[in-house]
Amino acid sequence: MYLKYMEIQGFKSFANKIRLELHEGVTGIVGPNGSGKSNVADAVRWVLGEQSARQLRGGNMQDVIFSGTENRKPLGFASVAITLDNADRALKFDADEVTVTRRLYRSGESEYQLNGVNCRLRDINELFYDTGIGKEGYSIIGQGQIDQILSGKPEDRRALFDEAAGIVKFKRRKAASLKKLEEEQSNLTRVNDIIAELE
Ligand code: ATP
Repeated sequence: MYLKYMEIQGFKSFANKIRLELHEGVTGIVGPNGSGKSNVADAVRWVLGEQSARQLRGGNMQDVIFSGTENRKPLGFASVAITLDNADRALKFDADEVTVTRRLYRSGESEYQLNGVNCRLRDINELFYDTGIGKEGYSIIGQGQIDQILSGKPEDRRALFDEAAGIVKFKRRKAASLKKLEEEQSNLTRVNDIIAELE
């Protein structure tokens, strides 16, 4: 599996639709300061479901939408699509290519798609659990993040190893099951109360 290409439109400094072709192996993006190199990494982070504007170096989520320049009006939406080669079926999705799309409108309306079909953020998260690719995966290491990892709390470092070891999805499932059990427990207590009242 590898990132094959990405299409960006209206996201941060990319007003026009651009298509970046990537290949297996290492791809370097070079350019002058402020030309948008980090915005490309932000686009990948965003399409994978980043919800924190701060992580995207903005004040609020609408800041990712192209805000205009001297010669160009602001745009009304931002759209990013990444296409991963999945010929090896590393992702549990039965297609040779998997395209994840995220769009956000100034109205606040937003949508996610998997291969062109609307889906929930949860579906995207589940697809990428334990692959290292999700927004919290180790495949995107932002500026300053290496220091953060080295000097971070042991629990934070542990999360990285959990992801690499492939146990995150089990931990999430366990947490969901425990929550369900708790809900059922309180339902049982309520039923017992009602029975006690009736007796
Ligand atoms: P450096 O080498 O200094 O780290 P860089 O190439 O990584 O720079 P970025 O940080 O990716 O550059 O891009 C910064 C540019 O993106 C700035 O010129 C900023 O004005 C522009 N920018 C960020 N958000 C928006 C937005 N919503 N609309 C328009 N331009 C934006």
